[in-house]
Amino acid sequence: MASPVAAIDIGGTKTLIEVYESGQREPAGSEESPTPGSGELVRDLAESVRRVAGGQDVEAVAVGCPGPLDPLGGVILNPPNLSREWWGLRLADGLAGELGAPAALENDCNLGALGEWDHGSGKGYDSVLYVTVSTGVGAGLVSGGEIFGGNRGFALELGHTVLETGGPVCGCGRAGCVEALTSGPAIARRALELGWTPDPGETDSRAVAYAAERGHPVAHRALEEAASYLGKALVNFIYSFDPGVVVLGGGVTRSDLFVSLARDAVGREPVMEAFLGVPVVRAGQPGRSVIHGARTLAERTSRNSSRPTGTGR
Ligand SMILES: [Zn+2]
Repeated sequence: MASPVAAIDIGGTKTLIEVYESGQREPAGSEESPTPGSGELVRDLAESVRRVAGGQDVEAVAVGCPGPLDPLGGVILNPPNLSREWWGLRLADGLAGELGAPAALENDCNLGALGEWDHGSGKGYDSVLYVTVSTGVGAGLVSGGEIFGGNRGFALELGHTVLETGGPVCGCGRAGCVEALTSGPAIARRALELGWTPDPGETDSRAVAYAAERGHPVAHRALEEAASYLGKALVNFIYSFDPGVVVLGGGVTRSDLFVSLARDAVGREPVMEAFLGVPVVRAGQPGRSVIHGARTLAERTSRNSSRPTGTGR
């Protein structure tokens, strides 16, 4: 029997490792732990993979990680959501050396798109645009089953496209970015600006959504403003990429009200007839888009490496 493949989702706070036997829908092993900020990062990660695989060799491994990163070279660049110990790490080569198996590294949003295309709400569509709204706003595009990475594999940073000239300043340095208007922190900040008085410790966008769903007018206004901006952005993206489906992921989109307001906003935009009717749906399994994409990439990496040359994607 073929050896299993390993899928890894490294997030700002948590890291998920899963191991899949060929053809199995459910993982044979799974482990979630806090993302370390220092130490022997590569060696410890490889050790965790071996443990989750129950001591078996793995056929291939694929890792999703916050960008920016270089998927072609398998190098993490300088993602603001990971500690500096990770910056510049040649993760793909390091894991391949430790595990004796080919390894691939990819931007987590791109893997989100791949995971939704292969295992989630994008299944059956040729082209899937995945947009995640949480602490930041990210996106990935799969077309014809392949990730669209641009020239260096850095695409798509749709969260940093500008919607509102003179809008709030974004972490990237521009003002009025989609991320600065629709992310969780942006929603919480706007609610406070509008005079929302949260309970102590309940100052995040989840609390705003919760209050909005219970009819709190200020919280509702903040959530609706963000959803309206997202709706405008989604129409921009539909014009840019002509996807078969738009899949929404990320913590903010767990709010039914937010998603319904964003869909209303898409519906309110005047859209050229040829572009009407692109479905906007939620991710198949919340929080699992990236790990599913990592699994698909690991399986592809394993197949590619059985040819005489080349690893990775
Ligand atoms: Zn920005």
